[in-house]
Amino acid sequence: MRKPKSKIYIPVKSRLDKVLDEIFVDRYTCIVCGREMPDPNRLGTCEACRKLLPYIHGGVCLKCGKPLAAAEGAKEWDREVFAEGEGLFPTDPDPVSYGSYCIGCRRAARYFDRARSAFCYRDKVQTLIHQSKFGQARYKLPYMAGYLADAYLEEPFPVDGVVAVPVSRKILRERGYNHAEVLAKSLCMRLQLPYMEGLTKIKETAQQAMSDYKDRRDNLKGAFHAEKAVFKGKRVLVVDDVLTTGSTLDEVAKTLRKAGAVKVYGLTFANVEEK
Ligand SMILES: [Zn+2]
Ligand SMILES: [Zn+2]
Repeated sequence: MRKPKSKIYIPVKSRLDKVLDEIFVDRYTCIVCGREMPDPNRLGTCEACRKLLPYIHGGVCLKCGKPLAAAEGAKEWDREVFAEGEGLFPTDPDPVSYGSYCIGCRRAARYFDRARSAFCYRDKVQTLIHQSKFGQARYKLPYMAGYLADAYLEEPFPVDGVVAVPVSRKILRERGYNHAEVLAKSLCMRLQLPYMEGLTKIKETAQQAMSDYKDRRDNLKGAFHAEKAVFKGKRVLVVDDVLTTGSTLDEVAKTLRKAGAVKVYGLTFANVEEK
């Protein structure tokens, strides 16, 4: 990636990336099953695998896009719970109204406006995320971004630019790249959306193994920094791999709003289903 002059720019493929596209056989094998494909395709996935991926069907939370538990889905929104919930942003012009919401979104107000995901976090999708995050399968991310683009285009959020959920410098050193950033920039290339530099992770946080929303939220408090000069007055789309409780997206949204962002939307490759 060439170093851009401005902090908001549309990413382009580097010359090296273009050369790698030509020579690497990986790019002509399915990112899910590894079988060879006759031609490269925009999603890097063979026909059979594309049919088997766990797409999100049915009821989702109207706020965070979480697939709702079938038995318990479609709960009415409880305004009293919302009023007592912590974190309600006083200037939030779009508080959630009646409809179906997940437990997390019913329990506490969110700093983000809405979020959506391409897949349920299970099966092959879980494997893909793991491989592209920790393994040597970085090349899969631009194809995964194709699915993100499709999910986004179903009903595009009106945004001025895109950011990735950042990782700490320590994690970046260990892994060599931030998978969310590769996803986000690939999405920008596909949709010709500007990418915004200026969101960083300033605090090392414990690995988010705990499943409790409050624990996760406390763990993330003050973990991010956003530059006012980049985000003031902007509508921002935040990209990440998975939405679990929504606490990461929420903390990022809070940080962006503090820096003057007027709208914050989320887009993730996968979303952990409500049990
Ligand atoms: Zn396949
Ligand atoms: Zn939700």
